[in-house]
Formats: sequence, C-alpha cells, structure tokens
Amino acid sequence: MSNLWVAQVLGTIADLLEIQGEEQFKAAAYRRASRAIAHSSEDLLGLAREGRLRELDGVGKSLAAKIEEILATGSCRYLEELALEVPLRVRELLDLPGVGPRTASRLFRELGITGLEELEVALGNGSIERLPGLGAKRAAAIARGVAELKSARAAGHPLGQVLPWAEALRARLAAASGVQEVTICGAARRWRETVDVLELVAAADPPEPLREVFQQLFAPYQVQIGAPHHLSAQGGPAGPVELRIVPPGRHVAAVHQCTGSTGHLVKLRRWAERRGVQSGEGVATPDGMPPAVTGEPQLYGFLGLQYIAPELREGRDEIEQAAAGLLPDLVEAADIRGDLHVHSNWSDGTASLEELAAAVPGYEYLAVTDHSVSLAITGGLDARRLQEQKEAIARVNAQHPDGTRLLSGVEVDIRRDGSLDLDDQVLAGLDVVVAAIHSGLRQDRATLTSRLEQAVKNPHVDIIGHPTGRLLGGRQPDLPDLEHLLAMAAATGTAFELNGSPERLDLNDTWARRARSHRVKLSLASDAHSLAGLKDLRYGLGMARRAGLEAPDLLNSRPLGDLLRR
Ligand SMILES: [Zn+2]
Ligand SMILES: [Zn+2]
Repeated sequence: MSNLWVAQVLGTIADLLEIQGEEQFKAAAYRRASRAIAHSSEDLLGLAREGRLRELDGVGKSLAAKIEEILATGSCRYLEELALEVPLRVRELLDLPGVGPRTASRLFRELGITGLEELEVALGNGSIERLPGLGAKRAAAIARGVAELKSARAAGHPLGQVLPWAEALRARLAAASGVQEVTICGAARRWRETVDVLELVAAADPPEPLREVFQQLFAPYQVQIGAPHHLSAQGGPAGPVELRIVPPGRHVAAVHQCTGSTGHLVKLRRWAERRGVQSGEGVATPDGMPPAVTGEPQLYGFLGLQYIAPELREGRDEIEQAAAGLLPDLVEAADIRGDLHVHSNWSDGTASLEELAAAVPGYEYLAVTDHSVSLAITGGLDARRLQEQKEAIARVNAQHPDGTRLLSGVEVDIRRDGSLDLDDQVLAGLDVVVAAIHSGLRQDRATLTSRLEQAVKNPHVDIIGHPTGRLLGGRQPDLPDLEHLLAMAAATGTAFELNGSPERLDLNDTWARRARSHRVKLSLASDAHSLAGLKDLRYGLGMARRAGLEAPDLLNSRPLGDLLRR
C-alpha cells in the first residue's frame, strides 16, 4: 500500500509547483510520476529495491531519490521546503470548479488567500471581482463553488477515498517500533458512506517511536498534540486524521470507544447502568474494563448482549435486538461466491476474459456484463458482438473447468423511453441480465420510475443495476419511487443491486434495508472496469452489513446451480 502514499506526496508537490508557477516541466514530471505510481500494480518498495524506479513514467534520477526518501521516511524535505513558500492549504482552492493553479496562485500572491475561509471573506468584500481579469461573473461562479464544496465537506469524505488511504496509513504506522496493532475506527470501521474524521487507535509500548513516525509523516501539515498520546493532523487526501496511542492492555476498550457511534455508546451506557454494571466498565472506557474482556464480543457478552458488529452500531434499535437475541446473522465476505456485474475489455473495461476468470480464485462465478450498444462511448455490444462474446466466454470456461466460471451477461441500457437496448430474444440467451439507466438522469421522478418499472416487469431482467443513478459528490438525480418499485420487484422476483463502485454505493444501506423488508433479493456488484476494481465489491458488502442483510438475502451467496436456475 505504499504506492498510494508516495503518489499522494508527489501529487502534493506537483500542486505546489504548479501554484508556484515557476517550474512547469518539473511540476509535470511530478504529476506524471504520481499518476504512474497510483496506477501501477507493481509494489514500489520492490521496484526501489531492484533499482528500477526510473522505469516509471516521469521518473528521473532526482525524482527516484525523492521516492526513496518518501519510502523511507513517509515524507520528503523538498515538500517541506515548498510548503514554506506556498502553504499547503492553498491547494484547497484547486478543488473549486474553474480555479486552476494560475488563479490559485494569484489569489494567494495578490490577496494573501490561503484557504476557503479567507476566500469567502474576499468574495464578500468584493476584492475577488476587482481582481484584474476575473470580474463579477467569475467571482459569482467561484462563490457557488465555495458553497457546494462546503456542503460536500460537511457531509464528510467518501468512504471510497478514505479507506484505501487509511489502510496505507495503517501499514506505515504499524511498522513503527513498539507497535503491536493499529486499528481503523470511527465511521470508517462502521462503513458509513462518508467519513468526517479518520480515527485510528494504536497499541504501542513505548508510544514515543510511533508518535515520532506520525509527526514525521504529517510534518508538512499541522500536527496537534492533545493529550500526550492523542495526535491529530489536518492534512491528507481524505480529511483530518486522529491517532490515539494506548498501552496494549487498553487497545480493545479504546477501539470500542473510538468506533462509536456516539448514539450507540450513549445507549450502551444506559443499558449497562440499568443492569447495575458500572458504566465505566460497561462502555469500556480506556480506563477501566472487566478483566475477562479480551475482545469486543466478550465485552458485549459481559453486558448480556449478542455481539453487535460495528456496522450496526448506529444507535438505532441494535441494543434492544441484541438483548432479545434478534440481531441478524450478517453476511460475511466468505459467504460471497461471485460478482454479478463486471466489465471486460469487450466494452469499456480493461481486463480480458481470461484475466477476469483468474482474478479472484475464491469466486465460483463472475458475470461479465458489458455495456449494450446505445452506450456507444463505452464500445457497447450489439446482438452480434454479444453472441461472439458468449462463445469466447464458453471457450475460456472450457479451458479452465476448475476455475471461476464466467457467466455471459450484459448491462443493458434502459433507454429514455423505458425500452431496453437489446431484444428480449437476445436477453433470453444470457445467464445474467443487469438493466440500468445511464442517460436522461435529469428526468423527473415519475419518468425515472416508469422507466425502471418497465425494466422490472421484463421477465429477462434479473437485476436492476445502480438503481438511483446517484454519484457521490456529484450527480443527484430525482429519486425514483423505490417503495413502489421494490414492491413490484418482490412480485416479479427481480433483484436490486448493491453497487459497490466507490462513487456510487447504490442502493445505499437505508434502501437496502427497505429492499430486505420487501423481501427483494439483492445483488452485490463491484461494477469493476479493471482487475483492481474487483475489490470494490467490499463496499457493497459494507452497505449490505449496515443494512442488516444475511447471506440468503443476496443472490451472490447462492451456489452456481441455484443461481442459474432462478
Ligand atoms: Zn452502469
Ligand atoms: Zn456497469
């Protein structure tokens, strides 16, 4: 996971160089290297050890040295020097639509603006529109951008950004001397779709080396030290980070507390008090816990409760359910037998059929569902190409009788008038048909609902893909009448998708819960367009667990024979 970390540091340097505006070639080299590393499937540490860093796009001798420095220390002095000239916070301005490095540089140099707050003040007192070359129109556009960015930030950072970064950070921290364990806590551990603060708990003895590593990693940012073993930093690609360092004996308690949610902990404390257990023990504060509690399951057991998984700790009715022994038996990764929505290089994916068949050895099946013809931009398949692909899939399956079985499928587009992009006769010949909307997402609720309704009614459609069409941090179409559609799907036996693509998470946990109560089956999908994307199924799994789904609620838990018989 060190690749992501290094890519992030190099990308930050590129931003600062661009804003500084003096060495554009250098900035471009850092940018290229950052991208090459982020997309490289080779482990950077391995490349460095073999002296092969310069094989990467944009990497020359001096950049290779910087990469080695980052691999060794987590940061680099060059970044710290640059940050003295251009404060890191100026990069915030680049997140605004229409603000590139040149404008950001002018805002900083000519008006001393280093972040959103100062920018808002300057917008308010008219100094932005008076800036030569900007004017009232652009100032208004920037003001709109600021408002949008602030509301997006208030919701937190998308889990799909936070988690990979958290894992990279955890790996680095875990390598510090004296560290026994580092756990990702907070909203990220609960798989919430947005995370406001990334919270980590580390068991370390002694704590000092870890503290130094953290301070070094975030040296260019502002590190604050609260209590001696409670550090926080504002920087990083996915928002603020907090690290609590505890002695190994207090790790379980601290992890439990930092996982939250606040609502859950408050209710748990009340529950403990009613049972006459000291609340300090009951909620497992870092200072006191009963000696027998060596893990969270024992902690809940001690309180007379079923184990409550982090995904359910939202302060709803989970404690009452746990007390009554009624918690769902949540689906687990091991229950998942395959992925039911994957793109290959026959449309806009990058992986070949052979690569997909070999990608996840544990999968019993994997449905190849490329786009259909009306999505011309994706190289969507028509009936003839689909038939060819079906034959190619049969050949791959025949060559690897013991491997993952590829299923022939399609992600058929639901057109603007609600008709499907391929004839029923074509769909009837496939193993898996996912139907989804990709265009006309600005239509009103009634129209969107009726389009989806036609797809649900089609007997050849197995799954409704990314049902709401939302993109996190972007497009928010009118929500179709999902209650109505779910009721209908329960009657037709059509499944709804839990699309794990990080920018979608669609259905979300709330609607997945509703689907379950309508007894509509759900289909976990990565919607991967590359081999790396196959891992995104885990976000769908996170949503499923938050929704309280059990293995039988999902199509993907079925053995191949059952699945094909439906
Ligand atoms: Zn799609
Ligand atoms: Zn897709």
